[in-house]
Amino acid sequence: MGPTKVVRGGTPLTCAHCSGQTFWERSALLNTPGMTWLGLDWLNESAEVFVCGTCGRLEWFLFVPDPDNPEPVAITCLSCGKLIPPATDTCLACGWTYALGEDAEVRD
Ligand SMILES: [Zn+2]
Ligand SMILES: [Zn+2]
Repeated sequence: MGPTKVVRGGTPLTCAHCSGQTFWERSALLNTPGMTWLGLDWLNESAEVFVCGTCGRLEWFLFVPDPDNPEPVAITCLSCGKLIPPATDTCLACGWTYALGEDAEVRD
């Protein structure tokens, strides 16, 4: 397999140096001693690294949530303040549901 086209953030990745649009894909853990030496240990993340198939320039991407498919986020129960798990909409502590809360606000 050769280098392939890459799309990130809805935009085809283009090499900033040679305008090439085919890249080798690599992944990298940034929380390594080498990254600490580079002063990048604050990232403490994993990243995608694309190597330009034409000139070899590295393009780095930290993993970010897909805007079309965002990760579910725990919400806070407006009744008791406990966190409601992403997979449910009912508070496990007091039984309050997010849907009921919204209805109550609209109903007036
Ligand atoms: Zn290039
Ligand atoms: Zn609750």
